[in-house]
Amino acid sequence: MSKTHDWIESEAKVCAQNYHPIPVVIERGEGAWLYDIEGKRYLDMMSAYSATSFGHHHPQLTKVFIEQAERLCVTSRAFHCEPLKPFLDKLTAFSGFDAALPMNTGAEAVETAIKAARRWGYQVKGIKPGKAKIIAAQNNFHGRTISVISFSTEPAYQENFGPFTPGFETIPFGDADALRDAIDENTCAFIVEPMQGEAGVIVPPAGWLKECEKICQENNVLLILDEVQTGLGRTGKRFAFMHDDVKPDGLVLGKALGGGMYPVSVFLGTQELMEVFNPGSHGSTFGGNALAARLGLEVLNILEQSDLVARSESLGEYLKSALKNIKHPGIKEVRGKGLWVGVELDPQHLDAYTCCVKLSQLGVLTKEAHDTVIRFAPPFIIEKEQLDWAVEQFSCVIDQMST
Ligand code: PLP
Repeated sequence: MSKTHDWIESEAKVCAQNYHPIPVVIERGEGAWLYDIEGKRYLDMMSAYSATSFGHHHPQLTKVFIEQAERLCVTSRAFHCEPLKPFLDKLTAFSGFDAALPMNTGAEAVETAIKAARRWGYQVKGIKPGKAKIIAAQNNFHGRTISVISFSTEPAYQENFGPFTPGFETIPFGDADALRDAIDENTCAFIVEPMQGEAGVIVPPAGWLKECEKICQENNVLLILDEVQTGLGRTGKRFAFMHDDVKPDGLVLGKALGGGMYPVSVFLGTQELMEVFNPGSHGSTFGGNALAARLGLEVLNILEQSDLVARSESLGEYLKSALKNIKHPGIKEVRGKGLWVGVELDPQHLDAYTCCVKLSQLGVLTKEAHDTVIRFAPPFIIEKEQLDWAVEQFSCVIDQMST
């Protein structure tokens, strides 16, 4: 048996089996490449679900990470820490929001958005106590906490985890009429991904997000966008909402905000929305810590000073058209924006997980979304030739699988 096989077997004895990973054991990463414990090299076409959008160990990020780690890491918010203000100054200017509440993981920042929306509903909109309703989209993915899975429509995310948090309703993604119909006097917010990630890189109909903005404004309902995965360049713009010229009331960011090194998330909002928080109402020991803030600042510096967002846009188009050029009966659709492309497979011909395992054997790493979609979300520093090579390997795999 291989070293990898033995490693995975012994890890399974001590690690909860809440994932079904591709059977490789990664030891080291450099730029767009990952290396396993047997010394084999893989092209990263997945970027840790967009957390490592700038590649592994971006030199500028590694440098500030080490410098800050040697200086100050965590004080808790019992005190002010010096790196937080410059980070949030930059982040608010970069995103166009008034203020932010820093957290760590995406799910925590979504929880923060839910709390902000409910408080705003009671304190500003005047919803009767205990009645606030939040609308979300079907097939959403916003994280794994109990409140967040309470509005999931995916049975696997909910099974045997009830009772769930009340106060949520879901509508079909991309359906503006359904949003209009679902809003009532108790609705405080509509929370949605501008493009759905874990559902399989789903691009909504053109103009839909703009229509949602209008409906929310007409009904005094907050539009809150979860850009944990789509934000910070992934879809070829700084934020996915920029494709539709929308201005949400709240924004959730995570993943790439920590430069692929450390969990950094935030909930951003208008002054009116952020003012619902007062001392004691919400918090996190690690949220906004010095190391996180310094890394977050450097991520924004990199995005501002480099051409990485433009690369995501142009290389994304290149990747999409290369994948579209593969003519195979097992490919139903190729879709996406920026360096975020989903290939929908026909399950009668091709199984997505098996396809990812075979790809890994050829040196390309990615992961399926549900059983039918292969996602390609490489780091923005990837080169055209590397994309060509990855597409070639994908083409080989699906040819192999159908013979
Ligand atoms: N929101 C979206 C859109 C996500 O894609 C994810 C993770 O994939 C989350 C929230 C949860 O983030 P985390 O895993 O950091 O809690």
